[in-house]
Amino acid sequence: MSKRHVATIAARAGIAQDTAFSAVTPPLYLTSTYELTAFKQPGQYDYSRSNNPTRDLLGETLAELEGGVKAIVTSTGMSACLLALQLLTPDDTLVIPHDCYGGSYRLFTNLAQRKNAFKLLVVNFQQAGWAEQISKAAPKMIWLETPSNPLLQITDVRAVCQLAKKLQALVVVDNTFLSPVLQQPLALGADIVVHSTTKYINGHSDIVGGVLVCNSVQLGDELKWWANCLGITGAPFDSYMTLRGLRTLEPRIRLQQDNAARVVDFLAKQPLVAKVYYPGLPQHPGHAIAKAQQSGFGAMCSFDLAADAALLPVFFSALRLFTLAQSLGGIESLICHPGTMTHASMDAKAQQTAGIGPTLIRLSVGIENSDDLLADLLQAFNAVAQASRQADKAANIGTAVKPDHEQQQQFRLNPALSAFW
Ligand SMILES: *Cc1c(COP(=O)(O)O)cnc(C)c1O
Repeated sequence: MSKRHVATIAARAGIAQDTAFSAVTPPLYLTSTYELTAFKQPGQYDYSRSNNPTRDLLGETLAELEGGVKAIVTSTGMSACLLALQLLTPDDTLVIPHDCYGGSYRLFTNLAQRKNAFKLLVVNFQQAGWAEQISKAAPKMIWLETPSNPLLQITDVRAVCQLAKKLQALVVVDNTFLSPVLQQPLALGADIVVHSTTKYINGHSDIVGGVLVCNSVQLGDELKWWANCLGITGAPFDSYMTLRGLRTLEPRIRLQQDNAARVVDFLAKQPLVAKVYYPGLPQHPGHAIAKAQQSGFGAMCSFDLAADAALLPVFFSALRLFTLAQSLGGIESLICHPGTMTHASMDAKAQQTAGIGPTLIRLSVGIENSDDLLADLLQAFNAVAQASRQADKAANIGTAVKPDHEQQQQFRLNPALSAFW
């Protein structure tokens, strides 16, 4: 049979393969252990930390979707990242992008600084000179995340992989923001792909999970050994849920991306929007590379609100369809304020360096009807415009009816308490 399309692989995973009862849908194997065939004769499975049929089916499907040879399904996206790092020793250098996912950044920096697990080089791939910087460090592993979070910056995966080949470095790509439907890093030259399956792959915001896909059996075997050794493989129930969500990955992403394109178009024409960040916009600095290495621009976008940051609570509380929450990639539209949520642990200066302004807002666009989504945004912008006029009027007559100070205080979450998502 010819190479199947992504939509077909995802929809048909394990369908009509049940040997016990001819069930069309593959069963969920909730068991911790498996009976031996006879004394000294283990069967195909022995213990669910090591292997489980439901988890294996998810892994095989994800490996095929990413064009890899072996996948390891892990308990969370973070444990997939942790697993890849098992390939490093204290003398090895790991290169990471300056704008990677906050939780990954926390893992990399703490393992390097507090555990001496490897040496770390933080590189800004958006600036000229990155290749020289990396060559000098002779790294063992280069970590990429493209598009980045929350500014959707694009890194040229092929260019980095070409350099890595020369340096004999491994390239790991976090493909969470696009999924294999829109980007397949192994085909661009990467060695390992990681995902937080919590996001698009499961797509329904009802589990946390991760996966790591390798381009070689040898890497896959070593990492599978570590996953079992560390005890970070995914739960069978979560694998079952993820398989169920995965079946609709392709149509979900297509619909979410179509909706995102309409949202971006709407935002770009909004007087209360200062700037829109989306790789699909021709003026986006990574537009050409995104076009070359992705098969779509995705359903994540960000924008700067052209209003006083004190009016953010007005905007967020006016919205009915965009839910103010961490995470992304589910069928429901979410909105997030990176400065106080996903990137809260960066201090003000680090946020400024990374380009995260006080009025930056990130959207994960869902599958709702796009007319409804635009109407929701429009009424929230109108609420901000009205509040802004009232604040101006109050300022002109010298009274103190400015946006409520207490409300602003409440809105600013305690950075120490907020987690990365
Ligand atoms: C969410 C996320 C992770 C971490 O995944 P969890 O499932 O939350 O552990 C890693 N990378 C990216 C890009 C993410 O968005």
